Amino acid sequence: MSRSAPKGLPWPAQRGRLPGDDTPLLRTSKLVKVYRADGVTVEAIRGVDIEFAAGEFVAIMGPSGSGKSTLLHVLGGLEPATAGEIWLLGQRVDGLSTAGWAILRRRHVGFVFQFFNLLSNMTVADNVELPALLAGATPRQARKRREELLAELGIADKAGAAPTRLSGGEQQRVALARALANEPSLLLADEPTGNLDSTNTRDVLRLLRRAHADGQAILMVTHDARVASLADRVINLFDGMVADDARIVPIPRGRNGVGDIVELRELRG
Ligand code: ADP
Repeated sequence: MSRSAPKGLPWPAQRGRLPGDDTPLLRTSKLVKVYRADGVTVEAIRGVDIEFAAGEFVAIMGPSGSGKSTLLHVLGGLEPATAGEIWLLGQRVDGLSTAGWAILRRRHVGFVFQFFNLLSNMTVADNVELPALLAGATPRQARKRREELLAELGIADKAGAAPTRLSGGEQQRVALARALANEPSLLLADEPTGNLDSTNTRDVLRLLRRAHADGQAILMVTHDARVASLADRVINLFDGMVADDARIVPIPRGRNGVGDIVELRELRG
């Protein structure tokens, strides 16, 4: 308890759940997102009811256009919901202002998107340290966290570089480091391994598994069934709705060596 964070904020932020509290980390009720542009209406999310516990690792799959990215954007407050409710950490958040969302995200939500959103006039190191500083870490804590994350992702030597000097795969890893820098209760990741070769994919997945083991909840959109098999649960979207929601149960290692096989057990539908 010796951490003294600026503005009296504890750092890292408290994880989604307090002992004895079974409030879901995130819950939606009848969530709807409609885009209207140039007289065209697209119902991207059509009545989604989902619930995530603190620390859960959930993969979101589904065909292109099924609403996966839209769902992440709406859950993270980057786009307003058209109707329905979103509850984060027991607080109703769908009506929050832009500033309200920004404060909530700063403390509790990390994002990795396909566009990396790195600040081009800052070094890689500063890009990664900033979210931790904004969440209340001291400069020393932020630097330590940045060093650990960049080392785990194999890009420690890029700390002083400008993001624009990096390859797409390197920028993607910096974006992941940045999203994890404030140790968010919830990480929203859209195809975090999309541009990576197999070695870098392994590094990213190892880091996600570590974050999950540390108690961070992860919602990850992926097309890759091998990546999804790391999750506790797989939600399939189809046409803006939840088509199925299945928990992945590892089969215990038995005499016949099937330890790597996973079984899908239907929860719904
Ligand atoms: P996915 O991530 O599963 O590929 P998206 O969430 O990107 O699906 O898109 C769901 C639907 O919403 C698609 O029909 C897409 O064209 C539409 N859509 C997504 N973003 C916008 C937008 N900003 N404006 C209008 N339509 C959009």
